[in-house]
Amino acid sequence: MSKHIIKFSAHNTQNNSRTGTIELPNECPWCYSKISPKIIGKNSYDYFVDKETFQGALLLECPNCKNHFHKSYDIKFGKYSDFTSQPIDKFPVPQSKFEYPNEVDTICPEFGKIISQTTHAEGLGLDHLAGIGYRKSIEFLVKDYLIELKSFDRTKTEKKLLGQCIQDIEDSRIQTLAKAATWIGNDETHYTRRHDKNIDDMKRFLHALTLLVSLEKSVIDAKEFTNN
Ligand SMILES: [Zn+2]
Repeated sequence: MSKHIIKFSAHNTQNNSRTGTIELPNECPWCYSKISPKIIGKNSYDYFVDKETFQGALLLECPNCKNHFHKSYDIKFGKYSDFTSQPIDKFPVPQSKFEYPNEVDTICPEFGKIISQTTHAEGLGLDHLAGIGYRKSIEFLVKDYLIELKSFDRTKTEKKLLGQCIQDIEDSRIQTLAKAATWIGNDETHYTRRHDKNIDDMKRFLHALTLLVSLEKSVIDAKEFTNN
C-alpha cells in the first residue's frame, strides 16, 4: 500500500473540510500491475450531522489499463480538522440462499461450512462448483446422521461409499430423499448426465432431508428428556 493524503469536503452550508491520511491500493484488481491509482471520484461527509465516524469511498483509475475500481474506508474524525482512516477489505459477495434447521449443525458440524461455500459459488454463477458442493453436503449429512443419531461406527462409516451408507438408512423417507439428491448430485459431478433433474431439484430434496434429520434429532432429544 502506498500512502496518499486526500481531503474530504463537507456538503453543508458551512463548507468545512477535514484532512487525513488514507492508504491507496498499490495493485490494480484488473491487470494486477503495481500502480499508484488515480483518484477520479470521492464522496463527502455530512458535517451538519456531525457524526464522529464516516464511511469514505474512492473511485480509482488504473494508470496502466485505465479500468476503474473502488475502495472504501472507515473514517474517524478527530477533535479539530483531521481524521484517521482504516481501509475496509470486506466486499459484499452475491450469495444464494439455502436455509436449513439449526439441529443439523449439531449433528453435522461441517454441513454449514460446505453449504456456505456452495451458496457463495452458486451466487457467483459457478454452477458446476455449486453442484459438487451440494453433493458433498449430502455425503457429510448422511454419514453424520448414521454416526450421531444411529450409532454407526465412525471409522467404518467414514470409509464407506455414500451409496452404501444410504442403503443403511432405515427410515424410507430419509433414504429416498438422500438417494434422489445424490443421483442428481452425481450428475452434477460426472461427465455424463443420467437424469432429467437439475440443481434446484437436488436442493429441494436436500432441504427436505435436513428437515427430516432435524425432526428425528428433536424426537430423540424429547425422548431423552421424558425418560429421565
Ligand atoms: Zn490495471
